[in-house]
Amino acid sequence: MSLRMIMVGPPGAGKGTQAVGLCERHNIIQVSTGDLFRAHAAAGDELGQLADSYTSRGELVPDEVTNAMVRERLAQPDMANGFLLDGYPRNPSQVGALDVMLIEQGLKIDLVLELTADDDEVFARLLNRAKEQGRADDNEDVIRHRIDIYHASTKPLLDVYQERGILLKVDGSGTIDEVANRIDATIAGFLTQVSRFVA
Ligand code: AMP
Repeated sequence: MSLRMIMVGPPGAGKGTQAVGLCERHNIIQVSTGDLFRAHAAAGDELGQLADSYTSRGELVPDEVTNAMVRERLAQPDMANGFLLDGYPRNPSQVGALDVMLIEQGLKIDLVLELTADDDEVFARLLNRAKEQGRADDNEDVIRHRIDIYHASTKPLLDVYQERGILLKVDGSGTIDEVANRIDATIAGFLTQVSRFVA
């Protein structure tokens, strides 16, 4: 069944790691706006250079740029079997843009998964990732700014999905397997109430 979902959580909550596992288990495709921006930056193209001037400071890339990139990706034929949006939408305005894209494609989001983690924990995890992977936006000041942006811009969009009755909250603390099991149980429980997933 073609699951279509969104994953939301603070930077460093483990979204990327959990998204990869979830996509394998549900046979759906991960669309990570952060990964797309990094790929463009590595290619050194115009979009990459523009995105890098924001991502390196921990700022959000402007909505019109991000929305256009996602619109193009969602129109690809491989999206038909389901997808997981990782890191998009990131503010209420992107929620509106995504709504329009989905209407255009005749699609609906089944669920939004919020992976929770407290600020101290994500801060420590990101500093550690900076040492291991050397990501340009994983230095102390930028990390703090990204966490602030999450609270100011991204968290408010959760209310929208809560009101729509499709928000699921999962505690992101523990080992990768513990969190994955928690996510699977929460999604499985929710899908028993969604008619198109009930046999
Ligand atoms: P991530 O890998 O999801 O942590 O994203 C890394 C960076 O890419 C973010 O700090 C932003 O600068 C940028 N970015 C990713 N997704 C979005 C989005 N939906 N809107 C704007 N900027 C984004």
